[in-house]
Amino acid sequence: MIKNDLVKTCLEVLTDESEHQSISPEIAMTSSFYSRDYQEYVDASKDEFNHFVYTRGANPTNNKLESILCKLEGAQKCKVFASGMGAISATLQSFLHNGSHIVVVNSIYSTTLKYIKTLERFGVSHTVVASTDTSDIVSALQENTDVIYMESPSSQKFEMVALKQITRIAQERNIITMIDNTWATPLFQRPLEFGVDVVLHSCSKYIGGHSDIVCGAVLGSFDHVTQIENTGYLTMGSTCSPMNSFLAIRGIRTLPLRMEKHSKNVIEVIDALSNDARIETIYHPYVQQRALADEYLSGYGSLMSLTFKDKDTEKLKSFVNELSTFMIGVSWGGFESMILPGFKDDNQAVMASRGLDITHTRMFVGLLEAETTINDIKSALDVAYGLKQ
Ligand code: PLP
Repeated sequence: MIKNDLVKTCLEVLTDESEHQSISPEIAMTSSFYSRDYQEYVDASKDEFNHFVYTRGANPTNNKLESILCKLEGAQKCKVFASGMGAISATLQSFLHNGSHIVVVNSIYSTTLKYIKTLERFGVSHTVVASTDTSDIVSALQENTDVIYMESPSSQKFEMVALKQITRIAQERNIITMIDNTWATPLFQRPLEFGVDVVLHSCSKYIGGHSDIVCGAVLGSFDHVTQIENTGYLTMGSTCSPMNSFLAIRGIRTLPLRMEKHSKNVIEVIDALSNDARIETIYHPYVQQRALADEYLSGYGSLMSLTFKDKDTEKLKSFVNELSTFMIGVSWGGFESMILPGFKDDNQAVMASRGLDITHTRMFVGLLEAETTINDIKSALDVAYGLKQ
């Protein structure tokens, strides 16, 4: 439904506001907006989110991306940011105060956890629940819990939680629920429909889709996002460049096509690798949590992890080096397949403390044909295990 209507939805938003009937959105690459006279200036400056005064408050190209994302996610309001972390940090600080407590569910993006840890200095405590079990999450709630922060599927092991149960309990206790929905995109999971209050995205990934922008977004009800706009958005100044909003809008036009291909590719890759004797575990909801995936997801993100049976880091290094279609590097969501080994020569203890095997390796399956990707992985494994030169 959303898939077929998506491009039409985008075009509606764009043509609604276009002054010159350009098909592609016009980029308002400006810091300030001028007023024609004194009264226009006074009216605008008294309400700078609803008038164009200064791009840190509002910008027409950013507004277009916000309108499109609202339609996709089924939200009342959206704000876009300079990065996913800009959106996440501004959102958290908008709902927390000295004395607040956050429950962090499972293994979230490491920089988000780092930010939550820095909040301790301002009297905000947190509990990390290393479990996907609803009862464990509920046990971690305290009188002063203001926020439950989730990624479902999570980073590293891509574990899912029962969003409907968690949000029901949170609502009873007046706790705000937040989810980072970057992995699934609004095409494959719409958390607001499951009762989540605030949805966050790193648009640097699938939404941008071409590995060429860093951008973020927060979505939710009018009241929640206005609270963020009034506090974390305006004051932290993590404003999205209008150029990046333009590129994100361009990415969204092909998001359905790309997501369909990523979803198909990752299933084919997992199926082909699942019986390979050299691989110990593949972490992806299609493998571990099919029932929850069927309940919440309408397709699969193509970011997964695997571990090897042989705990030999030399073999791991050789495997990484031999891959010809995967680029070694952080981030994901573009055309290219990406690989990111957790092991960095001397971080065994850190990996163990995060519950990660020494061979834990994140792989992003890009848009090449699945067969090419599978052949590349198998061939690199053969070389790493000395079966092939
Ligand atoms: N959330 C997830 C799941 C991520 O993987 C990332 C980045 O890698 C972020 C958030 C942060 O987004 P950004 O890099 O746009 O700040």
